[in-house]
Amino acid sequence: MPESARVISVAVSDSVPCPDCGAPAEWHGVQVLLGDDSLRWDTETVCGECGSATAACGTELPGEMRERLLAEHGATELRLGSSVDRVAVMRVLRRSLGLGLGEARAVLDRGYGGTLPEVELLARRLRVVGVGAVAVAGAGR
Ligand SMILES: [Zn+2]
Repeated sequence: MPESARVISVAVSDSVPCPDCGAPAEWHGVQVLLGDDSLRWDTETVCGECGSATAACGTELPGEMRERLLAEHGATELRLGSSVDRVAVMRVLRRSLGLGLGEARAVLDRGYGGTLPEVELLARRLRVVGVGAVAVAGAGR
């Protein structure tokens, strides 16, 4: 089974005021790395009081939700092998994260932290071009 078939996800839950009646409603959010190596997020708010339910989804993770995922689970760290091809790594970083040359170099020197699905995707793209890379969950914030 190709490793890209593995689905990776990270989730958060919270209680938020219902947009319709103001009672505490359950909020769930999840970010998923799908089998085709695309990222997706979903949220759902369900009110037990009035039955109101709202859902949203997309590909580009909203900043506030990303903060919550990172606060809840800690950042996942991108770890590179000891003797990696820096040019190949920078090429993947620039293409995947849309970074400039200087920013990509800073990531290479200082490391990169993000949500588990984000960093796993980056690690997969690096492994595809022969760079030893792993995503280490909960390594730091
Ligand atoms: Zn309600």
